[in-house]
Amino acid sequence: MRRLVRAQYAGAAGYSYAKSAEDVAREHGIDRVARLASNENPRPPSPTVIEAANEALRGANRYPDVRATALIDALRRYHGDYRFVTGAGMDGVIETVIRTVVEPGEAVVISTPTFSFYGLAAAACGGQVVNVPRRADFSVDTEAFIEACRRPKLAFLCSPNNPTGNPVLPEMVGEILDEMEGLLFLDNAYVEFSGIDYRPLMRRHENLIIGRTMSKVFALAGLRVGYAFVPEWFEPFYRRAATPFALNAVSVAAAVAALAEGDRVRETCDHVRQWRERFTEEVPFRTYPSDANFVMIDVSPLTGDDVVERLAAKGVLVRSCTSFPGLGDHYIRVCIGDDWENKRFIEAIRSL
Ligand SMILES: *Cc1c(COP(=O)(O)O)cnc(C)c1O
Repeated sequence: MRRLVRAQYAGAAGYSYAKSAEDVAREHGIDRVARLASNENPRPPSPTVIEAANEALRGANRYPDVRATALIDALRRYHGDYRFVTGAGMDGVIETVIRTVVEPGEAVVISTPTFSFYGLAAAACGGQVVNVPRRADFSVDTEAFIEACRRPKLAFLCSPNNPTGNPVLPEMVGEILDEMEGLLFLDNAYVEFSGIDYRPLMRRHENLIIGRTMSKVFALAGLRVGYAFVPEWFEPFYRRAATPFALNAVSVAAAVAALAEGDRVRETCDHVRQWRERFTEEVPFRTYPSDANFVMIDVSPLTGDDVVERLAAKGVLVRSCTSFPGLGDHYIRVCIGDDWENKRFIEAIRSL
């Protein structure tokens, strides 16, 4: 029956997921696995957030507010007077933006190596993915990127970049936007850890979308809440293309409550900054400077896959970067976890 499946999915592998902590625990007979593979927040949501989600469950017989008004209002309180759209995770937002813009056969430009979902989602809409490789130090080759972006309707740029951790500065993004006829989707999944503010660019450019997520610093990965700053003209078209009711009422309530907890965000960011430095000092391999809640590490002469296996045997789950197109086979990406997780990781990698 495989013939019934679109060629794209019948052959290729799709998104690569890290091994589950449960599998690692079972395989190696370990009770508690350090989960450092998915860039999550190690702290569970606060009691206030849990209570808000519980309260929303009481009304779960009703469809949610289609515009997620409570979340849009909370975002305006948090960020100021911007236009927002929402989705089931930023992944949902990315998919909807592509669906809004890209006709089959049209080019979608991506600065690689980077988050793989842009390419997968673009291809799913029949888009032609144009990969623009970064330089050897993983900085964006702005000239090449601008050249590739001039005409196409949509391009993706991730800052701080997953998995390399480095940012593109706002001035550079502004230059790129000035030269483009199409839209730039700037993925800011990790921006809270960086101290860089790209939001002022929204005031000056009609062709910028900034994607954000509640999955990382806001600790709601399991509830799938993403949003984006969009230009005013784009908003109604996005709404037409969006899956109805993509964002559920429980997730909205939790996100609204989480956005009101500024102190927790600051605490998480402080914790991440401290450990980022310690990783750089204490890991006996080359680490790349990171503005995110993870660090990429060059483990050569070992391979990423090999190191992932060997760390898993010691109860530490990290991500091999082998599946990121355009990156070699000798990198891993390690997220900052709780103190015990980070300590166990450092000990484990030093013993290799
Ligand atoms: C985690 C991540 C996302 C998406 O997160 P959601 O959980 O779908 O909101 C988007 N972009 C990058 C670069 C990410 O790392």
